[in-house]
Amino acid sequence: MLSARLGMMDRPARQVTAPTGRRVDGADGSAGERSVGGPVADDGSPVRQRGRVTLQTPLRDVVGARTATPLAAKLDLATVGDLLRHYPRRYERRGRMTDLAELVVGEKVTVLGTVRSVQERRPRPGSKVRSMTTVVVSDGSARISCAFFNQPWLGRLLTPGVTALFSGTVGRFRSELQLQSAQVAVIDDALGEGSQRIESLESFPGGVVPIYPLADGVSLTLVQRAVKTVLDVLETVDDPVPDVLLATRGLTGLDTALRDVHRPPSEERLDVARARLRYDEALALQLVLAQRRAAARRYPAVPCPPRPGGVLAAFDAALPFPLTDGQRGVGAQIAEDLSGEHPMHRLLQGEVGSGKTVVALRAMLQAVDAGRQAVLLAPTEVLAAQHARSLRTLLGPLGRGGELDAAPEAVKVTLLTGSLTTRARRQALLDLVSGEAGIAVGTHALLSGGVLFAELGLVVIDEQHRFGVEQRDALRGRRPDGASPPHVLVMTATPIPRTVAMTVYGDLETSVLEGLPAGRSPISTTVVPAAEKPAWLDRAWQRVREEVEAGHQAYVVCPKIGDDEPAAPGRAARRATLQDDDEGADWADGEGDGDGGSDGGPEGRRPPLAVLDVAERLAAGPLAGLVLRPLHGRLPPADKDRTMRDFAAGEVQVLVSTTVIEVGVDVPNATIMVVLDADRFGMSQLHQLRGRVGRGSAPGVCLLVTEAPPQTPALQRLAAVAATTDGFELAEADLQLRREGDVLGTSQAGRASGLKQLSLLRDRDVIAQARADATELIGDDPDLAGRPALAALAASVIRAPDQEFLEKS
Ligand code: ADP
Ligand code: MG
Repeated sequence: MLSARLGMMDRPARQVTAPTGRRVDGADGSAGERSVGGPVADDGSPVRQRGRVTLQTPLRDVVGARTATPLAAKLDLATVGDLLRHYPRRYERRGRMTDLAELVVGEKVTVLGTVRSVQERRPRPGSKVRSMTTVVVSDGSARISCAFFNQPWLGRLLTPGVTALFSGTVGRFRSELQLQSAQVAVIDDALGEGSQRIESLESFPGGVVPIYPLADGVSLTLVQRAVKTVLDVLETVDDPVPDVLLATRGLTGLDTALRDVHRPPSEERLDVARARLRYDEALALQLVLAQRRAAARRYPAVPCPPRPGGVLAAFDAALPFPLTDGQRGVGAQIAEDLSGEHPMHRLLQGEVGSGKTVVALRAMLQAVDAGRQAVLLAPTEVLAAQHARSLRTLLGPLGRGGELDAAPEAVKVTLLTGSLTTRARRQALLDLVSGEAGIAVGTHALLSGGVLFAELGLVVIDEQHRFGVEQRDALRGRRPDGASPPHVLVMTATPIPRTVAMTVYGDLETSVLEGLPAGRSPISTTVVPAAEKPAWLDRAWQRVREEVEAGHQAYVVCPKIGDDEPAAPGRAARRATLQDDDEGADWADGEGDGDGGSDGGPEGRRPPLAVLDVAERLAAGPLAGLVLRPLHGRLPPADKDRTMRDFAAGEVQVLVSTTVIEVGVDVPNATIMVVLDADRFGMSQLHQLRGRVGRGSAPGVCLLVTEAPPQTPALQRLAAVAATTDGFELAEADLQLRREGDVLGTSQAGRASGLKQLSLLRDRDVIAQARADATELIGDDPDLAGRPALAALAASVIRAPDQEFLEKS
């Protein structure tokens, strides 16, 4: 059945009335020329006298400048290959051609008929309808009228005698059958002036009409014709993927796949074609990633082998707890990487509380023992300050390097953030450039803005999801001063589904830190349906009081800050659909709060609860008498830092906060967390949040408060979070619920994406296969110098602007 949009995307009125009377788009010439059979460009000249047509041939040479120009300008399609990789978005099938005599009111139908009469009606004054064209169509036995609104040019096109395909819903108008919301799809060729712009049905085998993504000034017909012209003259496409591999993977050849995807002879062939093209995308992506991994191996690194008798040995000896098996295993792996001749690029995933900081610190100490400096980067200044504190605590006397009473092997930990006083900053910079500071902690700004290191050996990036491939790439090259690139360890507590790890983080080797330190208390999570059971909410606040009375502390988390935040509809809308992970502000302004932006949510939904309101109301109501303090990303850094310090010191009993506490904050005495409007957070995000409690010996409690009605997906999501503490499981579930584009970062409309067929949700196996294949194909030839066709494949599918998706997320 033809859908509403078929064939009607173009508004060729302007072209119809072109003064020359000539067609100005499309790609074939006059009927005379066509009868000779040779394809012609849009300037009337026969195409391809200049050589073979391959995927690399500029489109201009094949379809002519008039067609090629808008394709290049609007859709960024410059070569034959670009056009053929511009796959149909969907297909319309002629399907059952309805006999006019058998039409049933209410049915959506497509009929092939000949125009008998055309009537143009003027609208009544004031009507929204600007014009109405009624066309009576006959199939020889019966008649039906079709009503078109605001498409006066159709009247000029559909002159009596023209045969066309009409689609629409059968309705009744003044007791006559009428095709309403009618669309003209495909018109038979024997037509008058101007009609060649609508592709003839015969040219679509099986009546399957490809519908392409379009742009302003690029009509469906223009694309359809360009594709047809190109396919007619295209030489057999050389397959970049070796035959053996195709056979192993059971894939069809590229030539067949490209032709079939544009002109599918059957459903089966279309599926086969798509499978091949999906693989190509996965392979191209994995080739690029494998190249990045290989590139790192090309640079030398300064090996940092462990040194007996150094600060790491002293640290291990003083450690008050045994390392977990996971910490030991991953630690050994990292120690080996650091000893290597090439830079480490490793992703360390570990649940919240699994003890990544100790792993990172031990790696840093190994670098220090080798005479190098190490840097720890956090996504926000709050976290950087906290990391600096916890490193110093973990190090004890070993962290007092430079002080008079320090142990000889002690190291100096320097915090460098934007909120330092000028003096403190100068001192910190001096510590770094002189090598006095063995360990520096800061935000990503540490790596820019002219901060110099004496001997940078290792960069640890905590909470990876704020740090993109591009930033990682910047670390991968030589330092501006010509020094070797540092080793890089990336740590994330957000469990990453396997497909995402293989794509967005595919340039890194990955390790998983399994297990939690012994003596960890379980977190119990409960959903509090506040609308249905208001008494439960009262009970929740009572629980908070009980914890505080027992000497513990509490978090109350809200989706929003609540001062006069400027409206940010885009973010609000995303937030309303529970897309987490997009707190780009953290990097954009060096400091973030991850709040929900403006009052958001679908129509009729109340604005999200805000930190400032909630803090006030709790202080005056259910939590009166407790020491409450608000925390959010827009507080001045010094205030944030003081609040966190006071909370860590136990002077603040209840922290009312945005998701600024989502990652890394470590206050073991905090035992209860109440998340308000919990349905406005993503599942992984909730999991992150609750990791803030239960970090000490007392059991943790997390209460997810929501007004989402029972049986809604929102409530089911919360129930899923309450039901498991397995972050990987939740991450997979979260991924299922997110739109693909949000994962790949390709959701912005109009952005040409190299990944059109591939789905992270569906195609996990394809991605895994392609990853293995790419690794093998690259071998020790990262530039693919020996396999130019594969290099071209990678470049054609993952074109430069599309690499952006790697940077996002
Ligand atoms: P995360 O992986 O979330 O960053 P942290 O590194 O902050 O976890 O560790 C959480 C807490 O567990 C810290 O207080 C840390 O000192 C403690 N910890 C780390 N490793 C161990 C261990 N092997 N045994 C006991 N406690 C540990
Ligand atoms: Mg941490």
